[in-house]
Amino acid sequence: MINSSLYNVLYIDLTERKYEVQERRDLFEKYLGGAGVAVKLLEEECPKGVDPFSPDNPIILAVGPLTGLYPLASKTVAMFKSPLTGNLGESHAGGRSAVAIRLAGYGAIVIKGSSRTPVYISIFNDQVRIKDATTLWGMRSSYAVGRVLREIEPGAGKRTIMRIGIAGENLVRYANVVVESYRHFGRLGLGAVFGSKKLKAIVIAGTRGVKVYDLKAYMKVYEEIFRSITETGVMSKYHVLGTAENVLPLNAMGALPTRNLMQTRFELAENISGETLAEKYLVRKIACTHCPIGCIHLASLRIAFAPGYEYETLVIPYDYEPIYSLGSMLGIGSAEGLLRLIEKVEGLGLDAISVGVAMAWATEAYQRGLVTDKETMGLRPNWGEDVEVYIRMAEKIARRANEFYSALADGVEVAASKYGGLDFALTCGGNEVPGYHTGPAAIVGFLTGPRHSHLDSAGYSIDQKALRGPMIEEEMVKQIVEEEKFRNVLTSLVICLFARGEYKLEKVVRALEPLGIRTSPEELMKLGAEIQRAKASFKAREGFNPYNMRIAKRFLETPTPLGKLSEERLRDMIRMYIEMAGLKSVYATLD
Ligand code: SF4
Repeated sequence: MINSSLYNVLYIDLTERKYEVQERRDLFEKYLGGAGVAVKLLEEECPKGVDPFSPDNPIILAVGPLTGLYPLASKTVAMFKSPLTGNLGESHAGGRSAVAIRLAGYGAIVIKGSSRTPVYISIFNDQVRIKDATTLWGMRSSYAVGRVLREIEPGAGKRTIMRIGIAGENLVRYANVVVESYRHFGRLGLGAVFGSKKLKAIVIAGTRGVKVYDLKAYMKVYEEIFRSITETGVMSKYHVLGTAENVLPLNAMGALPTRNLMQTRFELAENISGETLAEKYLVRKIACTHCPIGCIHLASLRIAFAPGYEYETLVIPYDYEPIYSLGSMLGIGSAEGLLRLIEKVEGLGLDAISVGVAMAWATEAYQRGLVTDKETMGLRPNWGEDVEVYIRMAEKIARRANEFYSALADGVEVAASKYGGLDFALTCGGNEVPGYHTGPAAIVGFLTGPRHSHLDSAGYSIDQKALRGPMIEEEMVKQIVEEEKFRNVLTSLVICLFARGEYKLEKVVRALEPLGIRTSPEELMKLGAEIQRAKASFKAREGFNPYNMRIAKRFLETPTPLGKLSEERLRDMIRMYIEMAGLKSVYATLD
């Protein structure tokens, strides 16, 4: 069997319709893989100040040294310039993507240029083909695109199929890329970058092996990691109810954003909780490749085509984030209504958090009279009263149906700048906010994180620690900075963050040894800091200024479980973050 080399980077040019492979040992030896290698490739390939929809904006996909070898090393990191924020675009997806890229023989793939007509890329080992996708372009649902590609492409059971929906085709700035139907490169608009290149899909499969230098030592460490994952709480935490189990605890503590964060408790939370969904709708749990946990929860919903006609059964993935953004944020308290909306958003290829937050803002703007029936094209959003209204709104956003929906497709900050209502337009750093109104650490984490995501530093869990015992702000910020560095290590390897408790640094060091990589916990954290700096430098280069970020009034008005937040306090914490992370020189000219 031919072995895959992690050092191989596949460069594809869609304009010239050519490709080449370069060995980039220099990058992988220094930055491991995943986020570390991707940010360096982004620095190399993305010209300063480039329009995110220019052919010169690269799409970078990177995996890591543990991919294909250890449990939960199942993620691929995508980097690009984000059309939503105008700076760093970073998004992670699982499914089969990571293992497929590695077994096809690559550590990273860089896609540049753009096609004049719709295409998809088919990669099978060293065969790379750019194929016509005219018949796939404009298909109503991303699910259907997957079904067609499964019929015509090789590699069943091993391949990954990444594709965009009509939102990506229409350059909705938070369009996602759907992976294996139920996983996504969700945030920051990778789907729109695909769309700008007329790239409908990528199919990747391979049959190569992954070399291990010390097989005996590898099997020993593998066994230890596998056991620690399957025999500890992490398995039950994510497998039984999945992240949907967060709904009721967050609601109970008053941290579940509801009706555009006018409230933090939702009186109908029980109806859309992980418990209710599991009891009434859950039909299956599936996993990314090489993951024994299986946190992907699939619900089944039987709906009539039309009154008096046959039924179809929809299979719909759910987890905490869409329950928050398409459920409580819109006041939707019916599980069936929520699932129907998730299914629509998935099919259109929209990021669930961004579109949910955008529609929550639109509902409030409509109720305050900032927009009227003219802008909404006759739709009357009213906090979950009629789910059909939100289904149709999502469709209109994905199609940029008029000026108003086109503004929403550019992000809630753009829409609010145009129609008013910035005080309740809930973004951090230009990205629509995730569902944790737990306290200052969460908001500071969203504001300072390179992706402006809850996944950057998990500030919400620091707030929850502060609820159990007092914590001063310096300590909160210190924990945000350290967690972000640690996560940069994991996302360079590329390990699913749900396994962060099992992949402590000492264990990571031992996992790397049989692969011929010698390092130490200290060196890994140093690398985490370097990656943090590289991401911040890219953001600063593209105009991001952490000192003047907009903080929506609504974040300050609605109390968290740790009390009301003050803008002054949040801005102090941002300064502390910059100092503690050693980023003062990166942002020196902006202060
Ligand atoms: S825990 Fe979930 S997201 Fe993470 S690798 Fe497993 S199935 Fe994928």
